[in-house]
Amino acid sequence: MKHNREFEIAWMGLKPGPQTFVYDIDDRFMQEREADSEFSNWNARITLKFDKHENFFMLHFDIDGTVSVPCDRCGDNFDLRLWDEFDLVIKLLSVDDAEMPEDEDDVVFIPRSETVIDMSNWLYEFLMLSVPLQHIHPDKADGSAGCNEEALKLLSSLGDHEEEPANPLWKGLEAFKNIETPKANKKGKK
Ligand SMILES: [Zn+2]
Repeated sequence: MKHNREFEIAWMGLKPGPQTFVYDIDDRFMQEREADSEFSNWNARITLKFDKHENFFMLHFDIDGTVSVPCDRCGDNFDLRLWDEFDLVIKLLSVDDAEMPEDEDDVVFIPRSETVIDMSNWLYEFLMLSVPLQHIHPDKADGSAGCNEEALKLLSSLGDHEEEPANPLWKGLEAFKNIETPKANKKGKK
């Protein structure tokens, strides 16, 4: 695995109590881990508050940044605002690897002998998690859609066509009805 010394925290040398680490995450950092992504131009600052206690660390990650994504509605790329925060507790254990408990949702266990913690995987994961599921152009200041206007026009004309596939079915039923009706009439006449 690639080593990122700049993302490592040598916690042994830290004083007890909270300290702040600031990580500027660029596109290269993310592309190395997520090459096949529709996301590009990552640009984020993650501020980590690292609160050192005797047997555990409390971590708080604040994310502020942007990533370029294709809009779900018009397809044009735009800069999506990333704004999120995450908490993580790292517990130090003096046990063998075999006895290490499984990590929980917000709690990670590491052996006390691991004196350097690499933050890069968490930085990556939290940044990915900070991306909202829905990617829609924010509205313009006047309240109108921020989307590509040409694409919106095209979409609305396609929307009209989408109702058409029902027509052949109706036509088929009408043809069927036209055949049946005369027979019914004939029966009625008897
Ligand atoms: Zn759009």
